[in-house]
Amino acid sequence: MVNFQLSERQQLIRETVRKFAQQAIAPKIAEWDDQEYFPAELFREMGKLGLTGLTVPEEWGGAGLTYLDMVEAIMALAEIEPGIALSIAAHNSLATNHINLFGSTHQKQRWLIPLAKGEWIGAWALTEPDSGSDAASLRTRATRKGNTWILNGTKIFTTHGKSADLIIVFARTGNNKYDITAFGIERGTPGLRPGRKERKLGMRTSETTEVILENCEVPDEWRIGKIGEGFQQAMEVLDGGRIGIAALAVGTALGAYHHARQYATERQQFGKPIGLFQGIAFQLADMYTEIEVARLLTYRAAREKDEKGYAGKWASMAKLYASEMALRVTSAAIQIHGGYGFIREYPVEKFYRDARLLTIGEGTSEIQRLIIAKALLKEIGYSPSPTTQS
Ligand SMILES: Cc1cc2nc3c(=O)[nH]c(=O)nc-3n(C[C@H](O)[C@H](O)[C@H](O)COP(=O)(O)OP(=O)(O)OC[C@H]3O[C@@H](n4cnc5c(N)ncnc54)[C@H](O)[C@@H]3O)c2cc1C
Repeated sequence: MVNFQLSERQQLIRETVRKFAQQAIAPKIAEWDDQEYFPAELFREMGKLGLTGLTVPEEWGGAGLTYLDMVEAIMALAEIEPGIALSIAAHNSLATNHINLFGSTHQKQRWLIPLAKGEWIGAWALTEPDSGSDAASLRTRATRKGNTWILNGTKIFTTHGKSADLIIVFARTGNNKYDITAFGIERGTPGLRPGRKERKLGMRTSETTEVILENCEVPDEWRIGKIGEGFQQAMEVLDGGRIGIAALAVGTALGAYHHARQYATERQQFGKPIGLFQGIAFQLADMYTEIEVARLLTYRAAREKDEKGYAGKWASMAKLYASEMALRVTSAAIQIHGGYGFIREYPVEKFYRDARLLTIGEGTSEIQRLIIAKALLKEIGYSPSPTTQS
């Protein structure tokens, strides 16, 4: 069972993150969003708060928190600024957690400690121009040359593809579909360079770029885990990542809801606050009810992860429901603001734009439904053919 009461530690995390976000992030949001500026310099500050190594054990420089704690931190950050919360979610759940789960002792010393402390920024590059939901069809190739590997290929939509100090790259190392291996590649390695920085609808404070590998030579000691294990590693990493995106969705929706509720008490039409009209009051009631359902499902997935190490269908259900809920709630927040909701000066239009990513990144809603359905059928002994997804 999930304990619905926040622990003292979770309350402290929520308050600390909210205070930091209100002081260091809130005054800059409009400017950063407008300029599509990714504030990489914030990472060191967030590192001091433990936000860059949330679930990494303390011996490796992390905060040693549980997934239940982690979701609280991401929700609190997203409530103020979803773009930076996306960056923190990707840095923690994808790049850093990949090394935490599968890195060698040497790799943990060299990479995990600076990543967890926020001295380094991490990126995780799976998606390619012709390979998204069908992640195992990726084309980037790594060819063995003595004690090194030569990598060639193009990754797209990589969060922190330009600013990262370490990029986890997935490459084909054999001729079968799942012959995929993960490599850590440090910034400045010859043959590794960022490509185009994407201009985006939302999440504009989070950097998204291409990553280009041209005869990029890396030592075998930068290979993560065994040859051919990369795809399985990616799926395990995404299992935790999706809980982070569910938390991000809950926080994004809460941020929009708070603005809408406040506005409903201030805006007067027909001689009274619009919140006194049942049509608006019912929208607020539905919004908050849905947010709480998504929050409980996210806690359920986090608890599953903490207790069993694998959240499976719970992570996908939380990600699916919370992200689709965030689209409905942020849209309703605009409706409650009327015309002002459509104007940049009011924060709800940004929450609406940011929320649009959530049903796509780390596996689309359609892919989550495939994963959930597959798990449900497996429970009665029916195993359909494998699906692949990112
Ligand atoms: C802002 C942003 C940040 C990102 N960050 C990262 C990152 O850091 N690292 C990384 O590796 N990737 C990242 N991604 C990529 C993201 O994970 C992919 O965009 C996502 O997995 C979908 O892949 P795709 O865009 O190729 O869409 P496609 O796979 O081409 O899907 C197109 C449509 O077809 C549907 N579809 C596909 N297959 C099926 C099926 N079998 N059944 C039903 N419907 C299907 C999809 O649901 C979707 O609606 C990021 C993307 C964005 C936009």
